[in-house]
Amino acid sequence: MAAAPTSSAAARRPHALLVPFPCSGHINPTLHLARLLHSAGFVVTFVSTEHNHALMRARARGGGEGFRYEAIPGGLSPSARRAHDYGFGVLRAVRAHWPGHLRELIARLNSVADDSSSSSSSPPPPVTCVVASELMSFALDVAASLGVAAYVLWGTSACGLSCGLAVRELRRRAYVPLKDASYLTNGYLDTPIDWIAGMPTVRLGDVSSFVRTLDPTSFALRVEEDEANSCARAQGLILNTFDDLESDVLEALKDEFPRVYTIGPLAAAMHGRVVDRANGHGGAAAGLSLWEEDAACMTWLDAQPSGAVLYVSFGSLTVMSPDNIAELAWGLAESRRPFLWVVRPGLVAGGINALPDGFVSETKDRCFIAEWCAQEQVLRHRAVGAFLTHSGWNSSTESICSGVPMICWPGFADQYINSRYVCDEWGIGLRLDEELRREQVAAHVEELMGGGGGRGEEMRRSAAKWKAMAESATANGGSSYVSLDKLVEQLRLETE
Ligand code: UDP
Repeated sequence: MAAAPTSSAAARRPHALLVPFPCSGHINPTLHLARLLHSAGFVVTFVSTEHNHALMRARARGGGEGFRYEAIPGGLSPSARRAHDYGFGVLRAVRAHWPGHLRELIARLNSVADDSSSSSSSPPPPVTCVVASELMSFALDVAASLGVAAYVLWGTSACGLSCGLAVRELRRRAYVPLKDASYLTNGYLDTPIDWIAGMPTVRLGDVSSFVRTLDPTSFALRVEEDEANSCARAQGLILNTFDDLESDVLEALKDEFPRVYTIGPLAAAMHGRVVDRANGHGGAAAGLSLWEEDAACMTWLDAQPSGAVLYVSFGSLTVMSPDNIAELAWGLAESRRPFLWVVRPGLVAGGINALPDGFVSETKDRCFIAEWCAQEQVLRHRAVGAFLTHSGWNSSTESICSGVPMICWPGFADQYINSRYVCDEWGIGLRLDEELRREQVAAHVEELMGGGGGRGEEMRRSAAKWKAMAESATANGGSSYVSLDKLVEQLRLETE
């Protein structure tokens, strides 16, 4: 990518405004893309909530010249931020309050840019393109109304997007909503769905968590359908995946959308292309963390044998019942292997205090419990041999980039289809039943991490193969590298 232009060219510099849904799973890939655009010479404005900005400032993550953070009121009370359905609360608040705020922000940035009498020492050039993450489709409309080009960064999987696009047809063919509660458990969710373009036959239950509804007006299902279809209103669709990983489904999406940019995995693309100026190493460490990362877990990992540690984390939104926490905890204890477990505040009511009695003392010489960690670094650590994950797309791709096989326990949105691909298409994971059982947890850990050949050995080999493919896709000349260059070129054209 070309270097940043000199100041005399600043007025013509492209200015990308990136607006992710304000949760870690959307902020992280968007921030990776923001840094990649910045290193290609773009002025970047990264938008998040005032609450997230306060946390970002606390973590002192500056972006450098031409990289600005802008805050918008999040519209959530502190109690709503602790609510069980936090993600939906954020979505409702964002949809209600952000269109107006975003319009004002872009207008303000552009009026400063146009105002030569402005007292600001270096006003940014006008916003030339908006990049909105999924769930932020209103930003496409705001951008269109201001005459600014808009792109979608669909931060989850291409297969997840195809499933979202299939919801309308599921509804039309009366697969959803479910007829009554017995359909949740009578095998109906195993109904084969064999007509989604570019996808193998999958279970109805894997198309999305949201098909588990009896409500014809289900908000979640409606959002999934609308957000997927809203991609058609964007000038381009940016995907955090790579061509070899989801080739068939990408072919089908490319038939539907005229401009598709497959630039992922962004964790690997960042690592190769952006040097963290503060630390002088690849950009993986330069992510935005909304929680404090526990540095001591890295020291603990340093002391563990290579490939011995199971890393356990369920991302930023999963909420578990005390029963599931107990089954998981005792399964980990029975596995007799060292593990690093992220028990995020909010993962379970009571947090770390909700772990079952006796569990910490029984496992204390081989367990590390953190509230949050630098996950990309953890997964790249030589001591980590497997990842027990909720199959969020960032977690899945970060694991792929690190060559780490997975044990999948999906529960929400696209996590089911991601898990289906991880286990059955890419051969790098084992799936746990929806109802966690300690015996199955321990057995899967043993199967994946144990010696003596078998499926674990095979999956470790496949994980190493996919890691190499992710690296070559994001290396100079690879499919994602070339696609990112095309995206940069296209976004530059939006300046003219
Ligand atoms: N993450 C992290 N530290 C942790 C747990 C998670 O930095 O202790 C990051 C992880 O690297 C990923 C994001 O949080 O980038 C979670 O995104 P994902 O799509 O996996 O799940 P979500 O949080 O959206 O459910």
